[in-house]
Amino acid sequence: METILTIENLNKIYGKKVHAVNNLSFEIHKGNVYGILGPNGSGKSTTLGIVLNVVNKTSGNFAWFGGQLDTHDALKKVGAIIERPNFYPYMTAEENLRLVCKIKGIPYSKVEEKLTLVGLIERKDSKFKTFSLGMKQRLAIASALLNDPEILILDEPTNGLDPQGIRQIRDLIKIIAAQGTTILLASHLLDEVEKVCSHVVVLQKGVMLYQGTVHGMVANEGFFELEANDMTRLQTEINQHKAVEKTEIEDGKLYVYLHENLDSAELNSYLANKGIVLSHLVKRKHSLEEQFLQLTNHQTN
Ligand code: ADP
Ligand code: MG
Repeated sequence: METILTIENLNKIYGKKVHAVNNLSFEIHKGNVYGILGPNGSGKSTTLGIVLNVVNKTSGNFAWFGGQLDTHDALKKVGAIIERPNFYPYMTAEENLRLVCKIKGIPYSKVEEKLTLVGLIERKDSKFKTFSLGMKQRLAIASALLNDPEILILDEPTNGLDPQGIRQIRDLIKIIAAQGTTILLASHLLDEVEKVCSHVVVLQKGVMLYQGTVHGMVANEGFFELEANDMTRLQTEINQHKAVEKTEIEDGKLYVYLHENLDSAELNSYLANKGIVLSHLVKRKHSLEEQFLQLTNHQTN
């Protein structure tokens, strides 16, 4: 699988005391939608700022696209919106995007393509200042996509929007992902990450609590991580078990999600009877979803 971004043992300490990012490591692979999920102040924006070269790291490493390019050139293949969208208020949507094309040396034909994608083509001649916040955000997404980046980075993309605006942005993110653009978004909203993302990194006070699939985070009966010599056979056999809802192979491990309880010993003997010897077995018992709600105290804003 093609690696877009690798983060290794990243740390950011502001001043002397605030350990905003604490030994963070994760990887982003092409074609997935990643959420960095954590309550306010958990280090999401700092992490995005570091990999976008607008915040200096304290220690650790990150590398874009396997590290073949220097960060400056790599970032030309990254589209990012980390602040409130800002365009010229008295210029139209189209004029604003044409200006971006001119500055970045992108053909003007991209303007119509991206305005269509974000659903603003009919409003192309309206001045930016007449746009709702949701429309401004969609224009910012169009702008970030003008040069067809490999990855789109969004920091709290639905903050401040009304319910309709929130839905439009979430639907748009899904469309962009379906077209093959990798996405990394930061959000403090569990349901946003559940609805939009395939993968998640959960942060609390800069420390990573979980990384993996969103499925793994929300599985109520827990789930297993398994490895054996013959992964295909392992998957075929385990899919026959009545407690198993769904399985997927990810990074060489088989993830087994359950719809009813199944303990490790039972699973192991079931597989042993089929002649399968496991080289790795971990059961995660608690739903990370519940843990996340507890750690954020059901914070909703
Ligand atoms: P999030 O985006 O998850 O809300 P941030 O990355 O913005 O979190 O902040 C993480 C921690 O770092 C917080 O404690 C915040 O107060 C602190 N912090 C963020 N930016 C700065 C800064 N420029 N100077 C000092 N502390 C900061
Ligand atoms: Mg933030």
